[in-house]
Amino acid sequence: MKTYKFKLYRHKRNKYLHYSINASASIYNHCIALHKRYYKMFDKHLNQYRLMKHIAKLRKRVRYWQQVGSQAVQDIIQRIQKAYDLFFKYHKRGTRPPGFRKRRKYKSFTLKQAGYKFISDNKIRIGKQVFKFSLSRKIEGKVKTLTVKRNNLGELFLVVITNHQDETIPNMTGKSAGWDFGLKTFLTSSDGTAIQSPLFFKQLRNKLKAANRSLSRKKKGSKNWYRAKDHLNRVYEQISYKRRDWFWKLSHELTDSYDVLIFEDLNLKGMQRLWGRKISDLAFATFLEILETVANNKGKLVHYIDRFYPSSKTCSHCGHINQDLTLKDRFWDCSSCHTKLDRDKNAAINIHRVGASTLKLDTVRPSLMASVA
Ligand SMILES: [Zn+2]
Repeated sequence: MKTYKFKLYRHKRNKYLHYSINASASIYNHCIALHKRYYKMFDKHLNQYRLMKHIAKLRKRVRYWQQVGSQAVQDIIQRIQKAYDLFFKYHKRGTRPPGFRKRRKYKSFTLKQAGYKFISDNKIRIGKQVFKFSLSRKIEGKVKTLTVKRNNLGELFLVVITNHQDETIPNMTGKSAGWDFGLKTFLTSSDGTAIQSPLFFKQLRNKLKAANRSLSRKKKGSKNWYRAKDHLNRVYEQISYKRRDWFWKLSHELTDSYDVLIFEDLNLKGMQRLWGRKISDLAFATFLEILETVANNKGKLVHYIDRFYPSSKTCSHCGHINQDLTLKDRFWDCSSCHTKLDRDKNAAINIHRVGASTLKLDTVRPSLMASVA
């Protein structure tokens, strides 16, 4: 699978896509209301196929909804169903059922095989209108889904997913490593490699703070307030763009140097409680998602160990567990074997050892086995 993102050129016609996204929001909220009402009346979950039939019938009468292609309607209902499935599975851990969404916050609609057609390199027909976009990369493979996305600034993008597989032969290095996330040092590996958070993270964070302050000084709803809000959104976009860009580059570097990369399974909620807001700035989860994608494409592996293993507190030399270790301790002396330990590197070594021993041999490609043996 391959994902492409293209920006649509500004044009009067784009208002049709905005209508479609807004109409999708209206359908989405109507479906949520029906789910809730059905549950109240019958104490049962509303079946998605019944809901589809019902909405299809309604759509014949509501002209506004006809703006949304029938495949996109299906996608909305399936997405709500997925959210309910997650809720049924994880409600004990605090997952909430899907709820109503404001039109402003509703951002996209998705088409599968029908409802659009690429008519030249940078033109696409969606419904009855033709739109132009900037083709930054050539599309390879057969298109599986097309999503029209709107960001907080009201700009429109096409997200295209194809079935393309890169058929390059993996370039094996025979190396594996364990990795520990940190606040100052983004990643520390079991072989001592340290990857620092780029400086622009901090610079952009300051810019974000300033934009937030400026917004809080404006009168809510005033012209200046909206201007400040737009500015804040732009800074957010800039941060997420730059960060993702760096994550992609780093993922390529790491997967070029190592065959197997081992991490702790993240409990982000727990980390947030422990370390406060900062953790969200570092966006570990986003990084791991990107790293997995890149590793997959190159025939490399990202493997996780159980997050309950005490990787920081265990001495990587003798296995002694230091129960008194606190988050502030960057270095510590093992009371059993008297080794001086660097907190992050020690954790990474443990993660590597545990990860290599828990890799399921039968699920790993033979080409990768040499790297962890
Ligand atoms: Zn020790």
